[in-house]
Parts: sequence; C-alpha cells; structure tokens
Amino acid sequence: MVFFLRPSMSSRRLVLLLSVYFFFVLNLPLLARLVDILEQQASVKLGFVLSIPVFFIASLNVLFTLVAVKYLEKGIFVLLLLLSSLVSYAMFQYGVVFDRNMMANIMQTHQGEARSYLNAASLLWFGLTGLLPALLLARVRIEHGGLVKDLLWKGVSVLGSLAAIALIALFYYKDYASVGRNHNYLKQLIIPTYYLSSAGGYVNQTYLKEELPWRTLGEDARVERPRHNGKPNLLVLLVGETARGMNFELNGYPRETNAFTQRQGVVSFQSVSACGTATAVAVPCMFSRQSRVEYDAERTERQDNLLDIMQRAGIDVGWFENDGGCKGVCERVPTQAFRPEDVGPLCDGDYCQDGVMLEPLRQALDQPGQQDRVLVLHMVGSHGPTYYQRYPAKFAHFTPDCQRSDIQNCSARELVNTYDNTIYYSDYIISQVLNELKQRQDNWNTGLVYLSDHGESLGESGLYLHGMPYALAPVEQTRVPLLMWLSDGLSQEAKLDSQCVQRQAKEGDFSHDNLFDSMLGLMGIKTALYQPALDMLAPCRAG
Ligand SMILES: [Zn+2]
Repeated sequence: MVFFLRPSMSSRRLVLLLSVYFFFVLNLPLLARLVDILEQQASVKLGFVLSIPVFFIASLNVLFTLVAVKYLEKGIFVLLLLLSSLVSYAMFQYGVVFDRNMMANIMQTHQGEARSYLNAASLLWFGLTGLLPALLLARVRIEHGGLVKDLLWKGVSVLGSLAAIALIALFYYKDYASVGRNHNYLKQLIIPTYYLSSAGGYVNQTYLKEELPWRTLGEDARVERPRHNGKPNLLVLLVGETARGMNFELNGYPRETNAFTQRQGVVSFQSVSACGTATAVAVPCMFSRQSRVEYDAERTERQDNLLDIMQRAGIDVGWFENDGGCKGVCERVPTQAFRPEDVGPLCDGDYCQDGVMLEPLRQALDQPGQQDRVLVLHMVGSHGPTYYQRYPAKFAHFTPDCQRSDIQNCSARELVNTYDNTIYYSDYIISQVLNELKQRQDNWNTGLVYLSDHGESLGESGLYLHGMPYALAPVEQTRVPLLMWLSDGLSQEAKLDSQCVQRQAKEGDFSHDNLFDSMLGLMGIKTALYQPALDMLAPCRAG
C-alpha cells in the first residue's frame, strides 16, 4: 500500500485510506453476503452496485474523521484495526454475530476457551489484516495543519462525504431500502459500527443503566356494566400491519379492497393517525397509557399496558401472534404464536399468511365461559417488501402483481396491485372473524375492532416502505385504517347510540392515542386512569 512507503501522511488522507481499507478488507463478511444477494436478484442496476463501495467508504470517512482527534487518533485507529481484524475473522469463519449477548459471552469467556480459537488460519489472518497494518500505522507520522486549517479540511471532508451519500440516496434510495429490508441482518455485518454499538450497549446495560422499577397502573380497574341481557362481552381486536388508511375502499379508495366487509355493516373511522411509523414503536405505544408525544419506550416497557389492566379488571385476555412478535405487549397474557417453520400450506418458512389464525380463533371462541373476553389477533397484514407472499394465489384480485421482493424493479402499477391484494386479503380475514362473531350473538355481546400499526409508502415522492422519522413521515406512512363493528348486544351494553358512532367515524380526527380509553369505555372498565376526553365513543354514550 502506498502509505507504507511514506513515513508521514496528513490526517485526512490517513482517514480516507483507513475507510477504504476497512471496507475492502475488514468488511469481507459483508462483501461476501452482498455479492450473494446481488447474484440472486433477477436484475441489478450497475450504478447501484458501483455506488455501494462509495456509500460505505463515505460513511466510514465521516465516522473516522469525527474520531480523528490529534494525539488520540493513532491509538484509536491501532486498537480499531486489531479488534476489527479479530471480529472480521470470527464473523467470516464462524458466522458469529457480535450483538449485545455475544459481548456478554466474550466478557465471561475464560482463557482456555479463548485459546481454542487459536489456529494457523486465525493467526495468519490476524497477522496480515490486523497486526501488520497496526504496526505500519504506529510508525506513520500523522501531519496536522493549524487548528483552523485542520477543522476546515475536516469540514470539507465530512461535507463531501455527506454530499456523496445524499447523491446516492437520491438515485438509489429504493434499492438500498429494498436490500436492507429483505436482509435485515446486513447491518450486523458492518465493521466496526455494529460491534462497537453492541459493546456500548452492553456497557451501558451492565454498568451504567439502572432498570426502571415496575410501575403498576390501574390497580382499581374493574368491570362495571349494566349486564342488561346477562351475556358476557366478547371483543376481537385485530392489529394489522403496514395497512394504510387511504387504500381502504371504506375510506373512499376507488378499488374494491373492502369487497368482503363492504356489506357487513362495519364503521370505518376516516381520519386516524398512527403513534409511530414502525411496528416497534406503534404497537407498544397504542397499548400504553402514554400518548404519542409522551411515549418513551423504556418507561412503557416497565409498566402495565391496556392488556394488563383489562386482565386485572377480570377480563379473559388472549393474544394470537402472527407478525413475528408483540414487542412486549403480550408478555403477561396467554399467547399463541404461529411459527413460520411449521409446515402448512399457509406458512413458507419465513412467514405464515393470516388465514393460519382462523381455526385456532374459532376454537378459542368456542370455549364456553361467563367471563368477558378480549382476543387480540396480531396480523402480518401487508408486511413488505414481499407483499406477494402475504396472500394466497386466489386472492391475487388485482393483476398484474409484483411477484418479487426487489420491489423497485416492479412497475408502479404492479406494486400497487400487489399491495392492494394484501389489503383485499386482510379484508377477507376481518370478514371471516366478523362472521364468527355474528354467529355467536346468542351467547355473547360481540364486537370487533381492526386497526393498523402504521402505513406504507409505495413510491410516492420516491419513498418506499415505512419507518421515516415521524416529523418527516408522509401521510401514506402515518394514516391508518380503523374499523369497528358492534353487535346490538354490545352497543346496548356500552350504552352507545350507533348513529352517533357513525358520525364520529365520519367527522372525528383520531389517533392511536384513543385506543386505550376507547377500549376501557367499550368494555365497561372503571378505573381512575380512564380519560373520557380520549374515548372516541364517549360523546355517543348515554348517561
Ligand atoms: Zn408494522
């Protein structure tokens, strides 16, 4: 390498060189995976492939420039080279993932165990990619100009790198988003950012952060309702995934995406916004006492949520999980999870289609009982980018659809067709659940609520998928559907005027913040926590 020959080098050039070295040599595990992924794609844009090294090197250049502080930089980079070489070997050879748990393992490893990893290959790799460059770096005299000149050059270097990243995003954002979403684990392969953040997380968790004490909420919660007909209440709450409100026919979308529920008497709330643009935020938030503005993940995790309070009030609560996890919400209630590994026509190894929940739900509904009951179905819904795998072939109502995961290579029309098929199939699932509830009105006061966690971008303004920071997120990602159906029995029990409910749905502005109190109100739960102002149905309640 060039800099071996020169005993001195400017700091910014050294940083750039290290960035190139880290990408092409130490990130070998990442490069190998990227080559595999790109080979599997049906068609790949040359510009996208060529932009990948530029993207990573520019990103590393920004990171390294920030830590290249005079007097400290040599020590930092020597250490980084040595550690990264070891990490790179373990990842490439053993497929080790350097997450927080692995950091805990490493901290607890004894010498004998560590010795077992010593062999000719690992020593050779470490010697050539870690030790040798570190020794060479140790000998280089790093040049700095004056403070002002130095800062100026750093500024130019960082801004230049950021400009390159922005330019790449402008042209290939959807390619990066698609590859990233389909291969979520790729971020774990990036050296040194992933192992450094894991180590930071481990140190923070083990030595710095104190776990918040558990906070019990709604200790006074109890069901207190008229029992006018003596029947228990039975509510099914369907939590959808990635369904956006504007693609619901019931909200005025000009395609028959609600072909199944259209004539079933459901009420659709026209204006509902989500608490977040990603599942991990929106799902815990909608079940928490906190509003979107107050929401704090750590605090929410350490206190009772809506399900805990309903359970405490004496309601029989159950959760059906078909979306890869309930984000902590269902931790303390009986849960039935559907595993994609299960062989069955509706499961493909990665996901199960939502129809998989129908038979187990029927069985749960058939369980006799006098206790009020709330069953939550967490659907995989419209989870992308593999939309076409969310519905069985016979539900491909809108064609041609996009039968591939690299959605950026489908036409806009194919993509929307595929997405609308997921809504169409979800609508079928909702209508099936509705039929089950309608059949059980003799024994129960039945009701159904469906809502989605967040929306989705389908190419509008060049955006795809979801997860944009809330302040910047377009309405496609933040507007969600909310459907409701109440049997006469439940309507009377909750003292609701159904015409007023329809008016609320048509005219009111609501959000996930309203779920908590609306559910308490609907199920007749009395607690000091209840805030009538947030109950969507409160204005329609008599007395
Ligand atoms: Zn989601």
